[in-house]
Amino acid sequence: MDKPHVAIFPLSGGMGHFIPLAEFAKRLCQFHGFSITLIISKWFWTSQQPALLERLASSALDIRITEIPHITEDEDEQKMKLETRLSKFMLNAKPHVEDVLQSLRSSSPISAFITDLFCTELLDVTTKLKVPSYLFVPSSAASVCFMLHLPKLVSEINVSFKDADFEVEVPGLPPIPATDLPTPFQERSDSWFKWFLNNASRIKEASGVFINTFAELEEEAIKTLRTPSTPPIYPIGPLLVTESDTPDESSCLKWLDEQPPSSVLFVAFGSFGVLSREQITDLAIGLETSGHRFLWVLRGFKSEDSSSLETDISQLLPEGFESRTRDRGLVLLNWAPQIPVLPHPSTGGFLSHCGWNSTVESVSHGVPMIAWPLFAEQGINKVILVKQNQVAIGLKMDNKGFVRGEEVERAVRELMEGEFLSEMSGLSTIAANYLGLTRKF
Ligand code: UDP
Repeated sequence: MDKPHVAIFPLSGGMGHFIPLAEFAKRLCQFHGFSITLIISKWFWTSQQPALLERLASSALDIRITEIPHITEDEDEQKMKLETRLSKFMLNAKPHVEDVLQSLRSSSPISAFITDLFCTELLDVTTKLKVPSYLFVPSSAASVCFMLHLPKLVSEINVSFKDADFEVEVPGLPPIPATDLPTPFQERSDSWFKWFLNNASRIKEASGVFINTFAELEEEAIKTLRTPSTPPIYPIGPLLVTESDTPDESSCLKWLDEQPPSSVLFVAFGSFGVLSREQITDLAIGLETSGHRFLWVLRGFKSEDSSSLETDISQLLPEGFESRTRDRGLVLLNWAPQIPVLPHPSTGGFLSHCGWNSTVESVSHGVPMIAWPLFAEQGINKVILVKQNQVAIGLKMDNKGFVRGEEVERAVRELMEGEFLSEMSGLSTIAANYLGLTRKF
């Protein structure tokens, strides 16, 4: 019998969406004998993506990669907010994805189509072609609870969430401050608000929803999602890449080898997280005054007169910081091999923006966290970590999201010196069982 052929369209850009869907594709081949066609676009391509695709293409797995024609943007469009660009990109990508699917199925029938949660626009294409379509959620089950409940919230609350100084009730989540709800939904007058709302309301059209989570981490949210009015929910996490796709150009793993066990705080804000100059200064002050060891991945701020990021570390850090902390800290620009850094025996904590992959990776390796959400659904992820599972310390922020140096110091000391985290070992053991592949995803 022929293998089932599955076509997958990942969201371009953000590694947080691309890495776990690529991992899912690998497992569908490895453990379930599927044949996969990955349909990609190089729109908003990151520098880490070519290496990852190269590895997939050269693996022994039954994965083919095909590319839709490049979707160009004029200069004005390139300056727009990412969310607006994404909404335009999806409309432009639709006919190309349809062409590829048509051509693919002329040689081999397509059993199913899987795409990212933000690509529900493509359901128009697959409905027309009568191909069963599944959504892949690289984020939490709680964020899906939020999205499904969003139309009701919008009808009940008539101000933008950013102006609502109260907690909202979302089935499946503990009460959550409205200002912690995902950033694309904060301001109703933003042009992309309607687009995201429409995207959220289309989740129900899918034949099923795969979520990179597991029951012990998000029991309540998963239970809430399992209703007759929601498509079948499959918690397939934790989907962890077992080896890093990026070489350790910075030799930070070697540096970690030289540090005492569980002594280093890893500080990273994912593939997009950028702090302001003032915030970098206060974070540096907090790390320095805490007296603890740290490995900090620093992404430069945007200066006002330029659209590019500052890349000179000495311009980014407070004067003298590097020399004063040289014996216990390492600062890297832009990227570290997070996959091997987290399970490294010297890593004792993770100060994170709570991107969902970072969250799942940290929990799975038993690394306690300090939660510093910046954007997207990271405020919801913080609630899951801090309130529901007690595996992270929340940081106090002012109403502009600013964290002062003394607050950083407090949290770092509490995490690295405290008795915090009795819950962690239980969760990470469960995650490790999944990783040990007692089940294949
Ligand atoms: N990542 C990494 N090195 C870095 C920053 C990020 O390897 O310096 C990886 C990280 O392991 C994770 C992904 O990139 O798999 C980031 O995904 P996440 O959902 O945490 O955040 P996002 O980038 O989507 O904000």
